[in-house]
Amino acid sequence: MPYKCDDPRVDNWAIETLDEIHPLAADSNNSLVDLRYVLSLKRKHEGPDTEDMVSKDYHKGLGGKSLLPLWSQDVRLNFQNATLEQVAWQNQIHQLRLPSLSKAQAAGYNHSWFFQTPIVDCPKMLESLLNELVTGKSASNDENIADVDVNIETGVYYQSKEELFEEAKKLDCDAIVNCTGLGASKLCNDYQMIGARGALLVYDRKTCKRLDSTTDDEIPGSSSDVQELHDACIFAVERPWGSDEYPSYMIIRGDDIVVGGTCLNGDTEPTMRPEERTRLLENARLMGIDTNACQPKEDWVGFRPYRENIRCEIDDTDDYAKKDYEKIRLVHCYGTGGSGWTIYTGMAKEATRLVLQ
Ligand SMILES: Cc1cc2nc3c(=O)[nH]c(=O)nc-3n(C[C@H](O)[C@H](O)[C@H](O)COP(=O)(O)OP(=O)(O)OC[C@H]3O[C@@H](n4cnc5c(N)ncnc54)[C@H](O)[C@@H]3O)c2cc1C
Repeated sequence: MPYKCDDPRVDNWAIETLDEIHPLAADSNNSLVDLRYVLSLKRKHEGPDTEDMVSKDYHKGLGGKSLLPLWSQDVRLNFQNATLEQVAWQNQIHQLRLPSLSKAQAAGYNHSWFFQTPIVDCPKMLESLLNELVTGKSASNDENIADVDVNIETGVYYQSKEELFEEAKKLDCDAIVNCTGLGASKLCNDYQMIGARGALLVYDRKTCKRLDSTTDDEIPGSSSDVQELHDACIFAVERPWGSDEYPSYMIIRGDDIVVGGTCLNGDTEPTMRPEERTRLLENARLMGIDTNACQPKEDWVGFRPYRENIRCEIDDTDDYAKKDYEKIRLVHCYGTGGSGWTIYTGMAKEATRLVLQ
């Protein structure tokens, strides 16, 4: 579900990433990726209606006025555009821990996108990817990957593209892939880059206390309920619980529950504001956490490296030729906004194609 990323290439890159991580999610021995149900609350039905279905071009994918995104057609996601009532019926089988559906309906959410998606445990995955490089062994299969010399702790913070080229020349490299995220703004004088600030609360999944959403007064849940139900990810990006700049969401990520959020372009405040924290606690309560009975283990603020179009291209500015850098190819690979983990495989493959072409 690409977020805060408007580049038309992301749908394909997300599918290539899904190809890689979906099998990991299905493998019960692998804890890097979990398959989770997602409930995204909606005020209106945005899918095709009867008029669309009978339109001549609908089944060729040309007709109709469905606002559903392209990724929703991927069968692996089991996507449904369902009413909350339908979700409640299905939940008698799935037994998911969902927020109070009657409260959600009272707030005006009568519809939903209900689907299953792999969720990457990002810190664990980064460790595993690094381990792959260092040991030369792939985590996803038993293949040996190429023998590479890896050094991620260089401590070097490049001040200009020229410094990058000088380093590459010294190391006898013929390609540079620039993945500096928001840092590219200064490194490449790329003024299109914007930091989209996000603030989150992180709860420990094992000790986090839950509300019993089956009662309207949301009394704290008993411990037996907690064990029987399965955690799901919940999103409310529409009012009143959420909005574009202040989405409400809960993501189940490995042993953590992440509650968000904000998406504020150009806001550079590095720590959480008190009023922001109050709102996030209210989000946590709406999503089913008993905020009187447990505390988050961490407050977190980060900056999404947003750019209208992701920069994944060969740098063909020719001002390096005279400096004897013409044998070194610079490929830029940054600006993923709020979707870096959704598209990382597809985008890395594209950058590799550009290096090799
Ligand atoms: C609150 C929040 C929630 C998010 N939620 C999701 C989500 O649910 N799903 C999703 O897919 N994505 C999500 N993202 C987005 C995702 O985290 C980013 O897209 C991704 O981390 C960007 O990765 P990157 O490697 O391009 O950049 P970064 O992770 O920023 O890495 C850039 C690296 O380059 C280094 N660097 C920068 N400049 C220089 C320099 N001049 N010299 C040397 N090194 C340099 C930096 O130190 C850093 O290590 C979220 C982000 C935030 C902030």
